[in-house]
Amino acid sequence: MRSINRQCICLGLAATALLAGHASFAAPTVSVAPVDGARFLSDQRFDIRIEALPAAGAVTLTSLKIDGANVAPTSNDTVAGYTGFNVRGYHAPTAAGLHTLTAVVTDGSGSTTATAKFEVINPNGNRRPAKNVIIMLGDGMGAAHRTAARIVRYGAVNGRPLGFLNMDKFPGTGQILTESLNSIITDSAPGMCCYTTGNHAFNGQEGVYPSHLTNTFAYPRVEYLSEYLHRTQGKSLGIVSTADIEDATPAANAAHTGNRGAGTGICDQFFDERNSTGLTVLLGGGRRWFLPASDPFSSRTASTDYASLPADLVTKWGVPAGAADPSRDLIADFTGDGFTYVTDRTGLTSAAATSGTKLLGLFGYGNMNVALDKIAKQRNPGVTGIVDDYHAPNQPMLDEMTDAALTVLAKNPKGFVLTVEGAHIDKQSHAMDADRAIWETIEFDAAVAKARAFADKVGDTVVIVLADHECSGFSIIGALNTSIANLKALPSDKAILDPSIQPNRQKVVGTYDAASFPHYAIAPDGFPVNSDIDGKLLIGYGASGDRYEDWLTKPLTIIDSLAPSNIKAELASKGYTVAPRDRHPESDNGFFLRGQAVAADQAVHTATDIPISAYSSSSRAFEQFIGVQENTDVFFKLAKSALGGY
Ligand SMILES: [Zn+2]
Repeated sequence: MRSINRQCICLGLAATALLAGHASFAAPTVSVAPVDGARFLSDQRFDIRIEALPAAGAVTLTSLKIDGANVAPTSNDTVAGYTGFNVRGYHAPTAAGLHTLTAVVTDGSGSTTATAKFEVINPNGNRRPAKNVIIMLGDGMGAAHRTAARIVRYGAVNGRPLGFLNMDKFPGTGQILTESLNSIITDSAPGMCCYTTGNHAFNGQEGVYPSHLTNTFAYPRVEYLSEYLHRTQGKSLGIVSTADIEDATPAANAAHTGNRGAGTGICDQFFDERNSTGLTVLLGGGRRWFLPASDPFSSRTASTDYASLPADLVTKWGVPAGAADPSRDLIADFTGDGFTYVTDRTGLTSAAATSGTKLLGLFGYGNMNVALDKIAKQRNPGVTGIVDDYHAPNQPMLDEMTDAALTVLAKNPKGFVLTVEGAHIDKQSHAMDADRAIWETIEFDAAVAKARAFADKVGDTVVIVLADHECSGFSIIGALNTSIANLKALPSDKAILDPSIQPNRQKVVGTYDAASFPHYAIAPDGFPVNSDIDGKLLIGYGASGDRYEDWLTKPLTIIDSLAPSNIKAELASKGYTVAPRDRHPESDNGFFLRGQAVAADQAVHTATDIPISAYSSSSRAFEQFIGVQENTDVFFKLAKSALGGY
C-alpha cells in the first residue's frame, strides 16, 4: 500500500541564478543527481545527471566539474521539456572526505550554476572483516511488533518475561530514523535501498535517483552493496522473502528502477544483471512474473517490463540492454543458467535443492501466505484452507527458506550478502490483522535464529535485524478482560455509532492492570496452539483505515493485492474482500472505527523510528550499530564490517 506523487527533483541542491543585468528572474531550473549531502563508499559507482528545464531556448551544459576537474557527459536527452546530461557509471573518488560537483547550465535567458557536495567514506581497514553479511528485514516491524511477539511467544509472570525473542538477544541495539528522499514517511523501496546503497531515494523508487526520464529503468543508478561487494570481493547475493519477489524490499537489493511496481522488468533484471549483483539464491513468492504471458497465472506485460536501457548505461555498468519481452519464460532462463528450481516446501527441504550453487524457489503466484495460514494447513493437511485458495498448499516457513539459502550461499569461499525479509509483518499490519501480524513476527524471529546459528557455526558473519519503517501505528492497548465464549456471545455492535452508547466490544478491552499477563499455549511448531484465547492480547492502530473490530482472529485474509488477476477473482467469489472494512464477520458484529489516516482502505506507514539489533561472530562489528542512527548509516557500517574499516 502506497501512494506516490510525482514531484520535481529540486532537492537540496544549491542552484544559483545569475540575476545581475536581468530585469526579471530567468535562467534554466536545474537539478542534480546525486543530491547535495549524498554519501558514497570509496570507488562506489553512481550516475550523475544534470537535468534542466529551460526558461528560453535550448539548453547547453557549459561546464561540469568535480573538485574543479572536468567530467565529460556520456549522453544527453530531452524528455517532456527537460534536458538531461548524464555521466553513467562514475566511480566515486577513493579519497575520503567532501567533494564538490559543480554544473553550469545555459539557455537563451542566462546561466544557472548548481552545486552538490558529496562525501566519500573509506570502508577499508585493518579490523577482521566479516566474510558474510546478513540483513534480516522485518518489513513494517516497529518496537510494538517485537513486544507483542515476545508476549505471545513467551509470556510473562510477576512483571518478568519468560523468554526473549532471538532478535532481543543480539548485543548491538539501536534506533533508526526512516525518512526517504522526499518524505518523512517512506515506503519499502527507499526504506530498503537506504541500507543497500547508502543513498536516499524517492518513495516508490529503488537503486536510483529521481528524474523525468520516461524509461524508469534508465533513472540515474546508485551501486548496491551486492554489486559493490561482488565487483570488489567476489561475494554472492541471496534474496529471500515471503513477499512476491518483485516487491520493493527484495527488489531494492538488485534492481534499479523508478517504478517499484514494474514487476516484469524487476524480475527480468534479477536474472539479466546477475553477473553484476552476484545473485545466486532467490526464494519467495511471485511465480506470476516468471511465467510467459500466455500462462493463465502470468502477470507479465510489456507495460511492467523494461524497454532497452540507454547505450551508455549498458556500456558503463556492464549490463545487458534488456528488452520488453512479456512472452519470456524466465524460469527456463534461470534453470538454463544452472539454477535448481523448486516450487514447494517438500522440494525446498530436500537435499537436492541445496546440492548446487544456485537456487530459485517460487512458492506462490503472488505474495506467499502468512504463518498463521501456513501453520493451519500443516496442522490439518486434510482441511482445505486459505493456502489452497491461493493455489499454494505446501509453502515453506521463512526459517526453512533461510536455512536453504545459507547452505547454498556458504559454498562461495568469498562470502555473500543475504537479505531475508519477513514481508507480512507489514502487510498484515496494513490489513489491521493483529494475530497474523504477530505470528509473522514470530515466524521472522525463527529465521533470525537460523542466521545467528550460521554466524556462530562458520564465524566471520555480521547479522543485523531491523525494519524499513513502522507500519500502522501498531500498539499494544491491553488484553481481553473476558473469555472468548463471552466475547462471541455479545450482541452486535454494528449499528452503535452514538458516542453516548459504549459498544460492548469496547467494554471488554482490559487496560492497565486489567490486561494482566496474557498466556498463550505454544505448540511444538513454535506458534500458539490457538490465537483466540481467553485474555488475548489486543492491538490498536494509530495510522488506521476504517475497520470494524471484534477482537477475534479473522477467518480470511484480505485479497492479496499482488496475486494474479484470476486468483483475485476466485478469492472474491469465495467471500474474501479487498478492504479491511468490508471483512466478515467483523463488519456484522464489530464496532465501527473510523480510520484516522485513510477511509475505506488499509492502515499506512508511520514516521516512527524503528529498532535495530546487531550481532557478529569473530569480530565486534556489531558495536557500530548502537545509538540513534540515520537509515543510510547502516549501509556504510555494513560495508565497513565487510572490509574491516569499523
Ligand atoms: Zn507497507
